[in-house]
Amino acid sequence: MIIHSQKRSFGKGCNVSLFTLGTMRATENLDKMYSLIKNAHHAGINHLETAASYGKAEILIGEALKKLENSEGIIKKKWIITTKVLPKGDFNYLKNNFENSLKNLKLNKIHNLAIHGINLDEHLDWVLNGEGEKFLKWVIKKGFVEQIGFSSHGSYSLIEKTINRDLFSFCNLHLHFLDQSKISLAQLALKKNMGVLAISPADKGGKLYSPSNILLKASAPYHPLELAYRFLISKGITTLSLGATKFEDFNIAKKLMNSNQKLASTEITALENIEKLANEELKASKCEQCRSCLPCPSEIPIPEILRLRNISIGYGQLEFAKERYNLIGRAGHWWEEKNASFCLECNECVPRCPSKLNIPDLLKQTHKLLVENPKKRLWD
Ligand code: SF4
Ligand code: SF4
Repeated sequence: MIIHSQKRSFGKGCNVSLFTLGTMRATENLDKMYSLIKNAHHAGINHLETAASYGKAEILIGEALKKLENSEGIIKKKWIITTKVLPKGDFNYLKNNFENSLKNLKLNKIHNLAIHGINLDEHLDWVLNGEGEKFLKWVIKKGFVEQIGFSSHGSYSLIEKTINRDLFSFCNLHLHFLDQSKISLAQLALKKNMGVLAISPADKGGKLYSPSNILLKASAPYHPLELAYRFLISKGITTLSLGATKFEDFNIAKKLMNSNQKLASTEITALENIEKLANEELKASKCEQCRSCLPCPSEIPIPEILRLRNISIGYGQLEFAKERYNLIGRAGHWWEEKNASFCLECNECVPRCPSKLNIPDLLKQTHKLLVENPKKRLWD
C-alpha cells in the first residue's frame, strides 16, 4: 500500500516526513524493530534515525528493512537513514566504526551522518581541526554520505557557533513546547537551509504522552502532545523524532502526517490557555528564562533548574521534572553538572533578575520538591 505523507527538504539531502522514527528504544530484537518500522511506514514516516552507540539498532534495522522488502513490499531504497558517530577516537577507529555501521545497515552509502553530541568546545575543535576533520573529509571524498550534520545537548552559544561554521547541513536539537530556549537556534539553522530535527519532543519534551490534569484541561479539545507537535511543525522544524516503543505511539504521528500548515485559531487558543494556566499556577514566581542571573560563582545552571520548577508547578509535569533533576551530575557532558544544593546563598544573582525572584529561596524549594534517588538511565 502506498502511503502519502508530506515531506520537507532536510538540508542538502532527500526530503523527509514530518516525523522520524528514533530507534534508541527498539533494540530488544528483530521482531520489535520490524514491527516498529512497519508501523512507522503506515504512519507516513520515511526517515529512520539511529547510531552505532544504540546497541544492536543498526544490525536490527539492516535485517528489518530486508525482511520488510521481501515480505511486505516496503522498498528499502525509499527509506532515508541517519546514523551518528561520537566525537572521539582517531581516524582509524572512526573509519572502522563507520564501515561497520554501513555493513550492519546493509548499505554502500548513507544519506545522513551526524556527529553525535557536540556538547563541549573541545568536540567542535575535534571536528574542525582534529581526527574528526580527517574522518569527515574521508567520508565525503569517498562519497559514503550525502550530508553531514550534528546533534548537540550543549550550551546555546556553542550550538550557535557550530551552526555558524557553515560546515553542517542539518542539526538535531532539543526543541520543545515546554522548553523553547533553542527555537531561535533552529530558526537560525533553517535560515541557512539546514535541516532541523527535534530530539524527542514527546519524552524529553516533558513526557507529554502522560500529561497532567493542568495540561489536559488547558489543551482541550487537543491532546497536549498533539499541540506540542503542531507547535514545532508550525515553527518550520523539519522533522520530529518519535522514540516509539509500541503501536499506539504512532497514533498522533499518523493523524498529523499531513499537517504542514499554519496553526489554526483553535490551536493558538489552546496553546495560549496552557500558558495562562501555567502563569496562574506559578503566580509571580515564574522564571522567564532570560539568563540575566548568570554567571553564578558556584556554576549552578539557575535557568535550567528553575525551568524544571516551572514545568513541575506550572504545567504539572512533576515526574518528568524529577527525572531530569535527578540526572544532574550523572550524565557527563550530556546534561547539567550541579544541582540546587550547590547554592552558596551569596545572593550575587538576585539583583540581576528582572523578575525580582528570590533565586536562592526558589532553588532550595525546587531541590526539596524534586530530589530523590536517581534512576538508571536508558543507556547506562
Ligand atoms: S545565590 Fe546561589 S545561585 Fe545565586 S549566585 Fe549565589 S550561589 Fe549562585
Ligand atoms: S534572571 Fe530571573 S527570570 Fe531570568 S533566568 Fe534568571 S532567575 Fe529566571
